Amino acid sequence: MGWVDPVTKAVVPPIHMASTYLRDEDNGYRSGRIYARADNPTFDQAEATLAALEGGAKALVFSSGMSAATACFLALSPGDHVVVPKVMYWSLRNWLLTFATHWGLVVEFVDGDRTDAFAAAVKPGRTKLVWLETPANPTWAVSDIAAIAEIAHKAGALLGVDSTVATPVLTRPIEHGADIVMHSATKYLNGHSDIIAGALVGARDDAHWAKLRAIRAQLGTILGQTEAWLLMRGMRTLYPRVAWACRSAQTLAERFAAHPMVAEVLYPGLPSFAGHAAAARQMTGGFGGMLSVRVKGGERAAIATAARVELWKRATSLGGVESLIEHRASIEGAGTPCPPDLLRLSVGVEEAGDLFDDLDQALKRAHNA
Ligand code: PLP
Repeated sequence: MGWVDPVTKAVVPPIHMASTYLRDEDNGYRSGRIYARADNPTFDQAEATLAALEGGAKALVFSSGMSAATACFLALSPGDHVVVPKVMYWSLRNWLLTFATHWGLVVEFVDGDRTDAFAAAVKPGRTKLVWLETPANPTWAVSDIAAIAEIAHKAGALLGVDSTVATPVLTRPIEHGADIVMHSATKYLNGHSDIIAGALVGARDDAHWAKLRAIRAQLGTILGQTEAWLLMRGMRTLYPRVAWACRSAQTLAERFAAHPMVAEVLYPGLPSFAGHAAAARQMTGGFGGMLSVRVKGGERAAIATAARVELWKRATSLGGVESLIEHRASIEGAGTPCPPDLLRLSVGVEEAGDLFDDLDQALKRAHNA
């Protein structure tokens, strides 16, 4: 992944600390680099790797997943109509309901796993962006990317897909018709819970892409050099980490589905899951490292269970090597579509048997408390 440094032959890329670049004597900037708020050579390998992994033309790394996602909406104009899923990363939903709406975007929320809802919501000529998150955090509802891409394009809109949870290992949305792929690179791409980062990959290097690049440079939502290097370091192990997490998540989903203290397991890899067929069509190699369990006994039992784990860590975020458990509704607050009895599980690299035993003892102790 990446390339050997052509000057030093180092197999690991250098970090470029410079914030400014030398101007040519004739006043030009033939190096193409002027000032590091626009870009930095440390981004080159990470961006080229991401574009290759997603099968896109270009990639841009951002200071966070939120700055990458919001750039896609800020590239539109006040008055434009956008269609987004009801279940999506909660902070982006809040931003769409507040800042984006005040700024003038007309934001319409639909059920992300209902293709017919997108067909009914798009307004030909007025809808400029259709947004998906699949599987969607934290119920893992699956959207049919190819079908919704067709609906978006017929209406003259672009399709953006938050593919943070699927990663390019499992789904390449551009192959299914997406125009822009977004990642919270904080998660699986980095994989070690030690940076905040975001990324966009564009299907085409066109005028719209130039606008996204300009927004990053103008707002200064660039990634730090060290973070870009850590992102590249994390991506070197993306495939084995994701493959391992998928295998463990599948095992845990199947075992917890039969657990007497679990009301329901939400995981696209379970044949009983509503989105399983769509997931099987567009995900290859596994169904992801994220699942949720709905605990019998409601919110109190769910919180009491999370309080009793020892191997799982009670923390937000996902996609790192350590397994995390979170009572999601209390993080998302009022208005969340997240059920109150739901515990979100991010499966790391520990043994699946140890992870099962730890949550099993927590469920039993919480039940008997
Ligand atoms: N999209 C998804 C699916 C996420 O889970 C997150 C963060 O949890 C984000 C976007 C936002 O990313 P960041 O925290 O890197 O800004």
